Amino acid sequence: MVAGEVGDPTPGEQQVLVRTLACGICGSDLHAVEHLDRMIDMQRKTAPGQPALDPSRDLIMGHEFCVEIVDYGPGTARALPVGSRACSMPVVVDRGRLQAVGYSNDFPGGYGELMLLSELTLLAVPNGLPAEIAALTEPLAVGRHAVEKARIGSDDLPLVIGCGPIGLAVIVALKQKGLGPIVAADFSAARRALAERLGADEVIDPAVLSPYQRWQDLAWPPGAERDNPLTLLFGERPRPGVIFECVGVPGVIAQICDGAMRQTRVSVVGACMQPDRFEPLVAIGKEINLQFCFGYDPLEFADTLRALAEGEIDAGAMITGRVGIAGVPQAFRDLASPETHAKIICDPSLTA
Ligand SMILES: [Zn+2]
Repeated sequence: MVAGEVGDPTPGEQQVLVRTLACGICGSDLHAVEHLDRMIDMQRKTAPGQPALDPSRDLIMGHEFCVEIVDYGPGTARALPVGSRACSMPVVVDRGRLQAVGYSNDFPGGYGELMLLSELTLLAVPNGLPAEIAALTEPLAVGRHAVEKARIGSDDLPLVIGCGPIGLAVIVALKQKGLGPIVAADFSAARRALAERLGADEVIDPAVLSPYQRWQDLAWPPGAERDNPLTLLFGERPRPGVIFECVGVPGVIAQICDGAMRQTRVSVVGACMQPDRFEPLVAIGKEINLQFCFGYDPLEFADTLRALAEGEIDAGAMITGRVGIAGVPQAFRDLASPETHAKIICDPSLTA
């Protein structure tokens, strides 16, 4: 990975030339650098017909951004003034095909100075929201989507496994919906502290206490005979449980199935880049519902930006560092340590 120069992009039909003001550095990008071939393989399997990455060509990553509008291409309505700030889902429509901004050889991402976006997906940044906070819209929308996919109800008791940026985004979304108590677990003390600041009601160090045990203790009515086999048929019931898998390493889904109560719904948001194994019979015996989640939809994205701008959610604490473009390679290395950083923002106006 290097910091270098490429030519300025030119906006095509219904496209907009924008300047990056702030772009969050994402764990998916760290994964992609390490497992690019696997990611390309996954792209081919899940989105056939869409342009796939060519690992031999240049790639400018960055898909969590807030931008300033610089110029419009042909066929645009120019609805937002040049110089105004905007956010967008990281996609651009190009000649009838959808390109993933930040994972496309032809459309640079937000770790560069200039990008092309579609006018169709631009959203004005309201209420003078700072650019780096607006750039959190994308990762927070991932958490929001995971909560929506879990079809969570007001009586559900959530457990968040892993408090990296995705786990934190899930906690913010649960808090926004007034759900709880939110139990969250991570081996890192720094991440547990952040989880608490962002709304977790109880944080657990799994090296000290089983998060599943504590979550079940909260779910069952006091005094219920949990281990009596007859309770299954005639006894009291625990609160329904929802677990968010926000780690993404092999073995976590199996561990969750082991620790889950019967009928638990599991939202898998952590992107595991390797093949994984779990015991179907455990999941069958407990009737566990595994829901895999990816990204968000346009309404969830737009509403996350609105909620940030309205002050309905406050996630500024996620930002633990800022770098210029030349600092991105070092930021990738720094993000490997969970004790130091959650979200580092690339601000191209910074020199280091
Ligand atoms: Zn991301």
